[in-house]
Amino acid sequence: MGIRHEVLFRVKGVELKRIDLPKKVSSYFGENTFTMETMKKHISKATFEAFKTWMSEGKTISLAQAEKIANAMKGWAISKGATYYTHWFQPMTGLTAEKHDSFISITGPGKVVEKFSGSKLIQGEPDASSFPSGGIRATFEARGYTAWDPSSPAFIIESKLGKTLCIPTIFISYHGESLDKKLPLLRSEEALSKAAVGLLKLFRHKDVKKVFSTCGPEQEYFLIDKHYYDLRQDLVMTGRTLVGAPSPKGQQLEDQYFGTIKERVVNFMFEVAEEAYKLGIPLMTRHNEVAPHQYEFAPIFEESNIAADHNQLLMELMKKVALRHNLVCLLHEKPFAGINGSGKHLNWSLADNNGNNLLNPGDTPEDNLQFLAVLAAVLRAVYLHSDLLRASVAMAGNEHRLGANEAPPAILSVFLGDQLVKILEMIEKGVKSQVSKKDIIDFGIARLPRFNKDMTDRNRTSPFAFTGTKFEFRAVGSSQNISTPLTVINTIIAESLDYVALSIRKAEGKDFNTTVMKAIAKIFKETKDIRFEGNNYAEEWLKEAKKRGLPNVASTAEALEALTKEKNISLFKEYRVFSKEELIARYHIWIHMYNLTLEIEANTLNEMVNSCVVPAGYEYERLLASNLKQLLMLTKGAIVKIDKAVINDQKEHLSEIATKIYYVRRNIKEMAKLLEKAQELKDGKRAKLYFDELRPLMEHIRRHVDDLERVVSDEDWDLPKYREMLFIK
Ligand code: ADP
Ligand code: MG
Repeated sequence: MGIRHEVLFRVKGVELKRIDLPKKVSSYFGENTFTMETMKKHISKATFEAFKTWMSEGKTISLAQAEKIANAMKGWAISKGATYYTHWFQPMTGLTAEKHDSFISITGPGKVVEKFSGSKLIQGEPDASSFPSGGIRATFEARGYTAWDPSSPAFIIESKLGKTLCIPTIFISYHGESLDKKLPLLRSEEALSKAAVGLLKLFRHKDVKKVFSTCGPEQEYFLIDKHYYDLRQDLVMTGRTLVGAPSPKGQQLEDQYFGTIKERVVNFMFEVAEEAYKLGIPLMTRHNEVAPHQYEFAPIFEESNIAADHNQLLMELMKKVALRHNLVCLLHEKPFAGINGSGKHLNWSLADNNGNNLLNPGDTPEDNLQFLAVLAAVLRAVYLHSDLLRASVAMAGNEHRLGANEAPPAILSVFLGDQLVKILEMIEKGVKSQVSKKDIIDFGIARLPRFNKDMTDRNRTSPFAFTGTKFEFRAVGSSQNISTPLTVINTIIAESLDYVALSIRKAEGKDFNTTVMKAIAKIFKETKDIRFEGNNYAEEWLKEAKKRGLPNVASTAEALEALTKEKNISLFKEYRVFSKEELIARYHIWIHMYNLTLEIEANTLNEMVNSCVVPAGYEYERLLASNLKQLLMLTKGAIVKIDKAVINDQKEHLSEIATKIYYVRRNIKEMAKLLEKAQELKDGKRAKLYFDELRPLMEHIRRHVDDLERVVSDEDWDLPKYREMLFIK
């Protein structure tokens, strides 16, 4: 029996783990986070007030106060069983990093106490020379510093044998440049707040002190049995299948979406939710996705900064918990060919400190007008900076989704929905027109309906869609750290909010309402090309978008070039989100990561083909050859009468197999040459070569391998097949 078949028996024998019925969520939600309430209980009123001022107004606290908070945090963590602490940060690779230190401190020979000082809370110095800096740090000052980010609560991560206190931090160089994903996000929030508060002042909202973005990321993923996973080098090394023939049944029957969730998977979901709730991650929805064995988790939205941390934590939890169920959670954007990949829809909106959603048309005409002004800013931002949005989701995994006949396309456009489109058209034309009662608009007094989701959420093909009270950016990859796309959205919208405010100030009308209308009508008109309500996958849209001059960038390397453009460098500089050096560093790191990813994939494919596919092919070839030889011998001696057509058929089959193996080997050799040639190229050129030549070559090899898989004896094929990984639960 082949190893694949052995494993099949083991998969079928997996027993469902018994799980205790979950407790009431409210009884333990957030119990592993050091919340404001917990902090308040453990420190003096004065220190707590100082901390709050720090959070809301950015005035830093004193070291003495930090000392008190550190003490309280330590006390709380130790009482919960933590023995280690770590500064938890998000380097530019998009992963999370941690370096654990014990709380213990030596007080005498053989004696220790648990200690944690304010300075250790505020700053850490991990040996960070192995994190990519994109040229920001010279090797002689390779140090990186982590600094406490008090806006995200500390939390405790539990593992079987111990607990660790994790302190969210930013990661900076000796000179204060950001080496992470988090600091730029925080800076972009500041820029956004400043611009939005400025605009709201025009609308006489003097009481608004702060505006922040809100985010609810919908996390898609696949689950497969670990037995299969372990037998697939490609999944282990690269997170996606590099070969593998699609099974006859894929997702075409659409019988999986929102289908009944299998018990094994539901158990996994329960456990993830429980772990998430302990950390204060408000998971809300879970369901089957379109592809077989594809699922989704969606949380209740939060402040973007927190949502970004929570999404990183959630992805880690999902991977960890899956293993406990002998499953593997695949977060790759395209683990399987021929069926849908996974994305992470970023639901994004703006909220003020009074709890108002700025993308929700309000109850009064003034609020409606303000909503339209914010909408104008969003449209203008996407219109002017779609290149940056595209760059923010550029990575090797996502390249298989964007622009590859799959949701969403690489052309960025905005979908608004019929109702809103009608209103915008009227505003552009400047006519008072009669529309249905539901969407009345009368200049001077804009009265808008509340947009319910049914009216706006119909276009699932749009990469940037208005869905009632928020925008949904659908191009983000499932494995991505959401900080970067959020940073870009925040920054480009901050700039446009400023522009809208300025336009309103400059416009002239008989009263405030007509002035605003005049200003935004102009913006609606000028940015019209970014709006598209139709099917984004249609061939006509490609042509139409080209006519409109909208960029359609399929390759990661080309998309990332946006980060080096003068207009973008000055935008980020002006809004103090990235300095030029910081931005260019990201360009270098992300291009480099792209190249490394493709090299790992190509080398894995090479090894799999040589050590697994070709030998299986030879085995089958041998079987065919010896069969043919025997038949020929038997006919020769006229022992058995065999039709010539039968002999010819077998000859043909054998020669087909031999040819396929030959092609596979020939292309593999070609690939090795290409990789060698690439070594002489700098990163930018190398990435281009990989996109233009390596990727198609790998696809080509795959097609031949998949043909072999379909005919080689099942017994000799050791790689788990799609039908098994995706359909046997
Ligand atoms: P769907 O988009 O699948 O129809 P929903 O509209 O219910 O589902 O919500 C999807 C996600 O959008 C959820 O995570 C939800 O919390 C988030 N969301 C809802 N309102 C906002 C908002 N104002 N800002 C950011 N995210 C939001
Ligand atoms: Mg959605």
